[in-house]
Parts: sequence; structure tokens; C-alpha cells
Amino acid sequence: MTQEKRVAPLEMSPEEFRRHGHRLVDDVAEFLASLPSRPVTRGEKPSQIRATLPDDRLPETGEDAGPLLENAARLLAEHSLFNGHPRFFGYITSSAAPIGALADLLAAAVNPNTGGYQLSPVATEIEKQAVRWVADLIGFPRSGSGLLVSGGNMANFVAFLAARRAKFGAAVREKGLGVAPGARIYSSAETHTWLQKAADLFGFGTGAVCQVPVDARLRMDTTALARAIAQDKRAGLFPFLVVGTAGTVSTGAVDPLPEIGRIAREHGLWFHVDGAYGAPAAMLPDAPEDLRALAGADSVAVDPHKWLYTPLEAGCTLTADPNALSEAFSYHPTYYHFDSEEEQTNFYELGLQNSRGFRALKVWLAIRRVGRGGFARMISDDIALARRLAQNIARHGDFEGGPGGLSIVTFRYAPRELRSGPEAEERLNRLNTELLTRLQDGGEAFVSNAVVGGKFLLRACIVNFRTGHADVDALPEIVARVGREVARDIV
Ligand SMILES: *Cc1c(COP(=O)(O)O)cnc(C)c1O
Repeated sequence: MTQEKRVAPLEMSPEEFRRHGHRLVDDVAEFLASLPSRPVTRGEKPSQIRATLPDDRLPETGEDAGPLLENAARLLAEHSLFNGHPRFFGYITSSAAPIGALADLLAAAVNPNTGGYQLSPVATEIEKQAVRWVADLIGFPRSGSGLLVSGGNMANFVAFLAARRAKFGAAVREKGLGVAPGARIYSSAETHTWLQKAADLFGFGTGAVCQVPVDARLRMDTTALARAIAQDKRAGLFPFLVVGTAGTVSTGAVDPLPEIGRIAREHGLWFHVDGAYGAPAAMLPDAPEDLRALAGADSVAVDPHKWLYTPLEAGCTLTADPNALSEAFSYHPTYYHFDSEEEQTNFYELGLQNSRGFRALKVWLAIRRVGRGGFARMISDDIALARRLAQNIARHGDFEGGPGGLSIVTFRYAPRELRSGPEAEERLNRLNTELLTRLQDGGEAFVSNAVVGGKFLLRACIVNFRTGHADVDALPEIVARVGREVARDIV
């Protein structure tokens, strides 16, 4: 280093930062304001998108920050799929709270490493408070343990590993799954694919998962659950975990959680609730008892980046036992002391990550910004809009409604003249598959799909505080118009 005062290439002077930052904030504000008038997506091909990127040779030298940021803002605004668009109804991906975007800027600027307390004193306490508030919001006891992770899959994985440690003891961490022969896991056939991944990755194998059948409303059949557990026990197997879902990903079904919890307790199983999508609906005054019963689970996964509208990524694991996570992840468990005011939490000892970002800030600020009341209003509005959409669909002559729950509506385009005759089902599946592709590429409104009982259905999910009456009122006509085009072309 030859300079007296080091000026590193990546450093920015305060004046530069202000200038570029203000400009970027202006661009973002403009982008957010323009969302409703933009297509949800342009449906471009990968090669078209690649052509918009700079020369593919690695840059040897740098460029000015101003034009770079301008270029990046324009690229993103013109070639993204906008889940914050009022007519985005696809998947369970929410509109992101603008305060979350500002929080991410602040979090990245300070850049605490929330793996260890020493590296992130205030950020750790903020994360702990955010986790207690998430528990409060969904009605789960705040006396347990918890942490933020990247999303629903990770939140469920963390709970899965806590269950494994709790039911097979410390030996499973030292000796591996040899101490857990015949381990069995139960969940309904509608469970998200995370469970397959977990059973595989954490050594049980997908064959250890017993898929319990569902009833007509796609909820776990608890008689079949009790029977399967009893049968496996008689056969000398070791049932240890049952997973109930609070809001299935395909149709928003809520499993009968009170009865699943009762069966789990009776047989000594860990009771985990996957509430990645639906858990926040438990805060509504008129929430069904089935949903509220997540309060009695051993662990819950919930995604702030879904129905708490924080920007990606934010998932959250909660356990009722305050020691469950440190016992599963720490190599020198510091037991939770109720009398220790000055205990320092090291989040690396409560989960899979070592270095960790400050994703808690956006969750914490969003909660403070609107409180429980604000979330309850947005979530109940989303549900009311889904009901309105279902009514619109039912009134329209060209659709058939499918199962739906919480803020998910399923339906298919099925004009009367195509509903009967030989191979009607096969024809309708082909028709709706092509219809989905054209809708998704068209950019007027974005829906996804579900397959229920062999029927290919379109699926709208509203976790979107920007969606309004006009949007759900417009959707049936958009789908019917594109549906008529597809029918003309392929039937
Ligand atoms: C979305 C979802 C998941 C997966 O969550 P990610 O945040 O996408 O990792 C798991 N379970 C349910 C019920 C979900 O809705």
C-alpha cells in the first residue's frame, strides 16, 4: 500500500453514496408507483433476457456506480416477474412491504453477523424480539425457542432436526441414525415437498414417510393416521414425528390439528405444524379452531415472506421447548435459564447457519409499522378477496370451481360444450395446461396451477396487499378470453 490514505476501489465517499442512494430511491419509488400499469411479466425467453446483460467477459476494471445502478434498476424493472403486482396471483409469494426494502438497505449497511452475539449485540436482541412477536402473532407460546431462517423449507428442516434430536436423544447426534432403526414419519399426501427432502437429506430416506390419506376437503384423515401409527408400532417400527399442515400449498386446506395433536401426544410423537403459508391467519378473531390449535404443537414453521409480507427471504422456526434448538444444534448446549437476564444468544447454536445476515430487521420493522391490527386487516382482506373471486368464478358460466381454503381459489376453464363426451377430462386438462402457459406468458394476470384428483386446475392465491376488487373482478374475463382462444386453437 503506497498511499498515505488508503482509497480502496469499492469504497464510496459519503457524497457519492448520498447521490447514488437518493437517485436509486427515486427509481425504486417510481418503479413501485408504476407497478399496476406494467405487465406482470413479459414472458421473455432466457436467450432474450441474456441478451440484455453486458458483455459476458469478466470486467477487468470498474465502472462508475451511477450508470451501473441506473442500468440495474432498468434491467430489473423491465425483465422481472413482479410478485408485488396487484394482478400477481401465482404461488404463495407475497407483495413485499416497502419498509422491508428500506430495512434491507439499512441492515446491509451496518452488516451485523447474527451468528454470534458478540458480532451483533443489538441485531441479536432485535431478532429475538421479532421471533417472540411472530409467536405472539400466530398465538404460539413465546416462552419457547426460535430463529429466523431463509424460508419455509429451512424452517421446517430446523424443526425436523429438533424432533429427531428430541425423540432419539443425544446419541443420534453422535452415532447417527443407527440408533434410530425403523423410524417413521407421518403426514398427509398434500404435504409440501420439503418433507421428502428432509427425510432424504437427514438420513431417514423418503421411504420412512407414511403418506396418510386425505378426506374430500384434502385434510388429513385422522382415523387413518391413528391406524397407521398403531400398525407400525405393532410391527416394531418407531413412529416419532407427525406433520400437520396449516394451509396446504395447493388448496389452502388446514389439517384437523387438534385431533392430530391429540394422537401425537397419545403415542409420544413430536407434533410439527407446517404453517409456512397459513399460520398468520390464526391471528384473525374468527380463525377456525383447527388453525388455532397450532398453539399446542411442539414446533411450527411460518414464513414472514409469505403472509407477513416481508421481502424474501424470511422463514421462522418456533419450538415450544426452550431447549429444543440448542439441544439439536449446539455442541455445548447453554441451557435456558429463566433467571439469567444477561444470557447471550448465539444463533449459530440454534440452527444450521454459521454466519448469518440481519433478516430480522425487515420483519421487526414491518411488525412495528402495522402491528397486529394491520396484519389482521391485510390478511382478512386477502381472504375476502379470495371469496369474492370464488363467487365471480361460480357466477361465470364457463368455469368449474375446485377446492380452496384460506386465500386460495382453484378453478378450471370448462365451457359447457366441452364438459361431456368421450375424453372430456383429458381434453379439459390439455386445454387448461395450455391456458396456464398462455396466461403466464401474457402478463395480464399471473396464476399458477394445482392438480386435484387428476384434474388440472388453475390456482389463484392472494397474499397481496396491493390486490383489490377491480383485480379479482377482472380475472375471470381475462381467463375466459384466453381460454376461448386456446379452445379454438387446440380442441
Ligand atoms: C411455501 C411453503 C413451503 C416452502 O417454503 P419456502 O419459503 O418456499 O421455502 C413449505 N410449506 C408450505 C405449506 C408452504 O406454503
